Amino acid sequence: MIQSEHQRRAYLEALGIDVWLPRAEPEPEVIAADLQPVAMDWSALRETVSQCTRCRLHESRTQTVFGVGNPAANWMIIGEAPGAEEDRRGEPFVGRAGKLLDEMLRAVGQNRETAFIANILKCRPPNNRDPKPDESSECRGYLERQIGLVQPRIILAVGRIAAQLLLETDSPVGRLRGRRHQLGDTPLVVTYHPAYLLRSPVQKRKAWDDLCLASRVAAETGA
Ligand code: SF4
Repeated sequence: MIQSEHQRRAYLEALGIDVWLPRAEPEPEVIAADLQPVAMDWSALRETVSQCTRCRLHESRTQTVFGVGNPAANWMIIGEAPGAEEDRRGEPFVGRAGKLLDEMLRAVGQNRETAFIANILKCRPPNNRDPKPDESSECRGYLERQIGLVQPRIILAVGRIAAQLLLETDSPVGRLRGRRHQLGDTPLVVTYHPAYLLRSPVQKRKAWDDLCLASRVAAETGA
């Protein structure tokens, strides 16, 4: 007959047999977890980014530029890095290029409140130079977590650097745009950076085609 531990002890005690109990293990010391971005919620992520010193860019920034918009957006816009104005204001895509991006968003029924806008890098590279590989790899976990939290239906990568880093390619934008890519489970469309479109307005027609493609893909995914 199977006895419960309680019955067994009562039985042994009744027989006058000492019952040896295992010594209680000391409570393990609670060690503060070194939370990785992949496990962070929005507030932990925002706080961590604001204090980040993972790469040299923290030395020259005025502030980090986390991103703006709807944390559950269907559309996610990803650019390269903050420029001088963004670094001053703490918001991505401000100034003339930002206004053009706003117009592009409006053309597809989106705006800064409905979409989520972020950059690959959260700190400004000095003199707006291209991000260095170690800087983008150090910062990438933050963007990946943002994408994981937003779970967009469509990602619009604007500009060469964003497109190449997200898709891990060195193909030029001219070859990456005009078709649908995948970033994990999320469809991604590439278009020109609005700052480039200001310099080369003749390319606006192609950017419009890219927006139409992104809209169609978003509609297919239910956005
Ligand atoms: S660019 Fe990214 S990794 Fe580098 S200091 Fe800024 S937040 Fe940290």
